[in-house]
Amino acid sequence: MENPSRLFVTLRFKALLPLVGVLIVGIFFFAGVTLSVKESAREEVIMVAAAGAGAIFAVVVVVLATLIQRPLVELQEKIARVREGDLTVAVSFADRQDEMGDLGRNFNDTVRQLRESREEIQLLHRTQMSKAEHLATLGELAAGLAHEIRNPLAGIAGVIDVIGRDLPESSGGRQVLQEVKREVVHIERALSDLLAYARPRPQQILLADLNVTATLAVELARQQIMSRPIRVEIEECPNLPLVEHDPAQIEQVLLNLLLNAIQATPGPGRVMVSLGFQNGSALIGVKDEGQGIRAEHLANLFHPFFSTKKKGTGLGLSLAKSIVDAHGGRIEVTSVLGKGTEFSLCLPLRKPTTQAAALVNG
Ligand code: ADP
Repeated sequence: MENPSRLFVTLRFKALLPLVGVLIVGIFFFAGVTLSVKESAREEVIMVAAAGAGAIFAVVVVVLATLIQRPLVELQEKIARVREGDLTVAVSFADRQDEMGDLGRNFNDTVRQLRESREEIQLLHRTQMSKAEHLATLGELAAGLAHEIRNPLAGIAGVIDVIGRDLPESSGGRQVLQEVKREVVHIERALSDLLAYARPRPQQILLADLNVTATLAVELARQQIMSRPIRVEIEECPNLPLVEHDPAQIEQVLLNLLLNAIQATPGPGRVMVSLGFQNGSALIGVKDEGQGIRAEHLANLFHPFFSTKKKGTGLGLSLAKSIVDAHGGRIEVTSVLGKGTEFSLCLPLRKPTTQAAALVNG
């Protein structure tokens, strides 16, 4: 939009041009008349000329007021209303066919664009809110259901074990039962993930050794590898100070990352957990030599229910992120397709207050 004060000067100059012309012609005419009349009549001529000049001045003032000052005052008032948040305003001189009209149209267009953007943002906000409410209700429902299913499921697993034990070694039914047991374990894991996500247990922060927490997660992960040719190794950080954290929660985060890393490693390979310490924060890296992650998936990894696995719940990473966020930390990922992936956790040595954590995580 053109600068209003510059426009004002241009307009005033343009409006005055014909008037200056009229005045110059008038002065010459007046000088001629004054010189041509007799001495006695000169006074009357001067009086008439003074009255004419007064009238011209009045006309100039009225013209300036109508053409320039009033619109500018109106513009000023409307700008003040926009500043107060009223985006329904429009100036009345936008239909004029001069620069002032251009200014008016520009102003009205800008306010209209602002109004449309604000309406779009409000709509987006309303949609997000109702989506969040919907998800919260759905989450509660799912958590309730998961809770109800878990107990009978444990019963089913027990019965499968008993029947399996009673079957003769050579029975083909044993293999079928093992398959059923695997599916039951899978359902149990999906339900646990869902429950942990929907109803996280209250945080229990301790000042504890993060090396120990990570080692426990690594040992649990090693038990899951079965006979696959994958090594899970840990490089502890001996001079890492104690870190304020919930050991059970961080162990769960690391176990989720380790199981993902193991699942992403199709053949022989190594999964490495390393601990470090930098700028007042503890660092943990979980690195694999697996299939890597597609660039287009990276943005969705931490969204709940995002999974590329046939039997994935898509809750592991979003749960990991919410736990790390609640510790005032950060979780990041780098990946090269076909080469491997590294998840990096950064945890402050002292857990910030809730408010400070919210600021850290934006
Ligand atoms: P789930 O394991 O149930 O799919 P997650 O939230 O743990 O859910 O993981 C989401 C997705 O992130 C996975 O389906 C997978 O595509 C991808 N992913 C996570 N970790 C890795 C990894 N180390 N290597 C390759 N892909 C991974």
